[in-house]
Amino acid sequence: VETLHIIGGGMAGSEAAWQAASLGVPVTIHEMRPKVGTFAHRTGMLAEMVCSNSFRSDDDERNAVGLLHWEMRAAGGLIMEMADHHRLPAGGALAVDRDPFAESVTGRLRDHPLISVSEEEVAELPSSGKWIIATGPLTSGRLAEAIRAETGAEALAFFDAIAPIVYAESVDMSVAWMQSRYDKGETEDERTAYMNCPMSRDQYEAFIDALLAADKTEFHEGETAIYFDGCLPIEVMAERGRETLRFGPMKPVGLTNAHRPDVKPYAVVQLRRDNALGTLYNIVGFQTKMKYGAQTEVFKRIPGLENASFARLGGIHRNTFINSPTLLDARMRLKSRSHIRFAGQITGVEGYVESAAMGLLAGRMAAAEILGRDLPPPAPDTAMGALVTHITGGAEAKTFQPMNVNFGLFPPIDAKGGRRGRKDRYKAYTDRAKTAFREWLDGQG
Ligand code: FAD
Repeated sequence: VETLHIIGGGMAGSEAAWQAASLGVPVTIHEMRPKVGTFAHRTGMLAEMVCSNSFRSDDDERNAVGLLHWEMRAAGGLIMEMADHHRLPAGGALAVDRDPFAESVTGRLRDHPLISVSEEEVAELPSSGKWIIATGPLTSGRLAEAIRAETGAEALAFFDAIAPIVYAESVDMSVAWMQSRYDKGETEDERTAYMNCPMSRDQYEAFIDALLAADKTEFHEGETAIYFDGCLPIEVMAERGRETLRFGPMKPVGLTNAHRPDVKPYAVVQLRRDNALGTLYNIVGFQTKMKYGAQTEVFKRIPGLENASFARLGGIHRNTFINSPTLLDARMRLKSRSHIRFAGQITGVEGYVESAAMGLLAGRMAAAEILGRDLPPPAPDTAMGALVTHITGGAEAKTFQPMNVNFGLFPPIDAKGGRRGRKDRYKAYTDRAKTAFREWLDGQG
């Protein structure tokens, strides 16, 4: 049986190796640590958690990341098995004792008769064989350069400058309205690409004051490069002058308030559709280093967003990731070199759990291919399927930013028989997902 090569033994690479080896496929993991380090990893162990020790909510009935836990457990995931084994008390969250966790994952992989680990940095794209690249947000510079040479500079990012993303249903449409600037766009799809939130002069001034006063996170060394990319955080724009935002992302031109056509807004906050389903919208140009608590405070001052729920808040971080919606096919293969798959955070998912889940899928798909079978992704009703569908096609390629799993990525459940409460609706999502995920597993025998 042909050997599967995996570059990077982090969350995704470790899970991919385990899945493929469990299916009888020999695996070599190429991991650069401890020979070559990163600024965040401390050890030479596989599956090291670089920051918090939390796998977030473990509620598999009403939470999307909890559902992802459930699916990974159902698929015999090593990362979840070891996380459960080294669980620390943390209420509804799954907190993990990080060093024993990483030691156990490393031990299980090294002890597996079909898995070998080669301690080396891979600096080139492999020209033949079957490969998974799972080198994560801190992919080494030389390999990132090789990926960039293949994909083009536009398709590889080194930072995420994330604008906050809100659930469309939580925007107050009696205040906001749909319109593209200067009514650009022919189709219904283009005309519903933007939502607009109007501000009066007083609201604008109060908003600027709140921005300037908000708590912010400091940049780490090497992160200020973002300043040269014309991708300034909104609070930095506000510091440069009180009017800067009004002449930048909040300019009111080319828009007419559908509810009050007679009143010209002093400033307008625009939200742009973030997924094909139209369930998520990002706030245009609102990348920010404000702390999470401060962001929710400040953004709720925007008329129409008083009760907004956020699928994710804004941020700016060092992060290497590819433009998966344009580069990868539905089976996570690089379209231009189909012997190479990508998995983990480098595909544009975010978080330990999401990264490991994409490793699980890529490992199973690569193993199936080596064994002469074809494995389609799970249905988009499942957490794993929703995520992989989002990154490989559902997300808008132009504004693609790393994504956590959330119910906004799932095909909506109709509120049949009246409005369901949010909690009931989430339960309906997870019930539907579990059935579909079991079918996907059963289909593999
Ligand atoms: P990683 O786990 O980073 O694994 C990639 C592996 O590839 C590493 O072991 C690396 O050494 C190796 N590698 C890189 N380049 C090469 C090469 N050329 N050749 C061989 N090996 C290579 N997520 C959370 O859920 N919670 C958090 O609190 C959190 N905090 C974070 C803090 C920082 C500073 C960063 C950078 C990320 C954080 N993340 C957090 C995101 C987290 O890193 C990812 O979710 C997760 O670790 C990604 O898994 P991965 O397998 O894709 O990458």
